[in-house]
Amino acid sequence: MKRTVKDLVGLKGKVVLLRDDFNVPIDENGKILDSTRIINALPTIKYLSEQGAKIVILSHLDRPKGFELRKSLWPISLFLMRELNCNVDFCNKTIGDEVKEKIKHLKNGNVLLLENTRFYEGETKCDMEFAKEIASLGSIFVNDAFGVAHRENASNYGVARILPNAIGLLMEKEIIELSNSMDNPKKPFVAVLGGAKVETKVKILNKFIDKADIILIGGAMAYTFLFAMGISIGESIFYPDSVSIAKEILTKAKKNGKTLLLPVDHVCVHKTDKKEKKIIVDNMIDDMVGYDIGPKTIEIFKNEIEKAGQVFWNGPMGMYENKKFKKGTFEIAKAIAETKGYTVVGGGDSVAALNSFNLDKKIDYISTGGGATLKFLEDGTLPCIEVIQEKIK
Ligand code: ADP
Ligand code: MG
Repeated sequence: MKRTVKDLVGLKGKVVLLRDDFNVPIDENGKILDSTRIINALPTIKYLSEQGAKIVILSHLDRPKGFELRKSLWPISLFLMRELNCNVDFCNKTIGDEVKEKIKHLKNGNVLLLENTRFYEGETKCDMEFAKEIASLGSIFVNDAFGVAHRENASNYGVARILPNAIGLLMEKEIIELSNSMDNPKKPFVAVLGGAKVETKVKILNKFIDKADIILIGGAMAYTFLFAMGISIGESIFYPDSVSIAKEILTKAKKNGKTLLLPVDHVCVHKTDKKEKKIIVDNMIDDMVGYDIGPKTIEIFKNEIEKAGQVFWNGPMGMYENKKFKKGTFEIAKAIAETKGYTVVGGGDSVAALNSFNLDKKIDYISTGGGATLKFLEDGTLPCIEVIQEKIK
């Protein structure tokens, strides 16, 4: 077990460097469009504040090329100010004398948010000189940034190699929830997988062939499987390089006695049809392109989800961003929200879809990670978790 922030003693007056994941969508007026990740990070900040620590928060935002005003964390400091009962200051630098000066004046229990770590080249390269500069600002490092814990950057990995450290409460919750969902699933365990590329999800598919009882595959990824089975997919997206992997997965599922279900009907359009008129077919032929699962598939998938003891969902069932093709994803999300089984959802687009349908409150656990969640489920840990000290027994 990793050391958590609650295992740290004597925090009063100490400068704690807290790495959060405030990588949230912000519009051109500085309005935060989805604050879920920030809200989930609050318990650790509040705990540290109650303990009287001087809290210096680090985060990245997006993928800036050097300094970009639009990618400043400044709007987030205003949000924190409203949500917390302590003072929140902001510094437009991440390292250096200005930051040190601000820390000098930081009172116990208050927060100083530093500027986007990715404004510095050293961040994503995990440059240890940059990490040392950050580490010199405080005496303890706490990592609560689950969403980026699969990436070894200077502010989440490098700093942890230098300072005494612990994980935050969000990180702890993610580890417990995601580990439990894989290791002790309630049966029948249904995995619902979709989304675009097969190659990024091969490992997770294999994992679910081992761990789940029933695997439902929708979204663009389904066509590679259908193609591998010799079923016509018209002109739908498929990944030629992943066909052999799809075949292996199908064989493995059969051998392990797992139920792997693929779409039996599709919502598609003719590639040449400029108006993109929707058609629903069982067999895609000629120039048809599939963008969503059809009504029969929805019923079959829903039936399995209703009977589930536990459901894990990653990846939309179709091109849900387009109103015409969102029904499959919506109906499956609704079935997951309504099932009596324990439900866990992870993945950037899957969670965005859930939020857009207003169904997020009905899910038992929503992971704050996208890539990090999948990687954690595959490997049972992540590099930025591994680097943290173990609990002292
Ligand atoms: P997540 O972020 O939840 O892991 P992915 O990033 O793998 O999900 O996939 C989401 C993307 O897949 C969405 O942009 C969606 O439009 C796209 N997608 C799903 N099904 C289809 C399809 N049939 N055709 C084209 N794009 C699709
Ligand atoms: Mg995505």
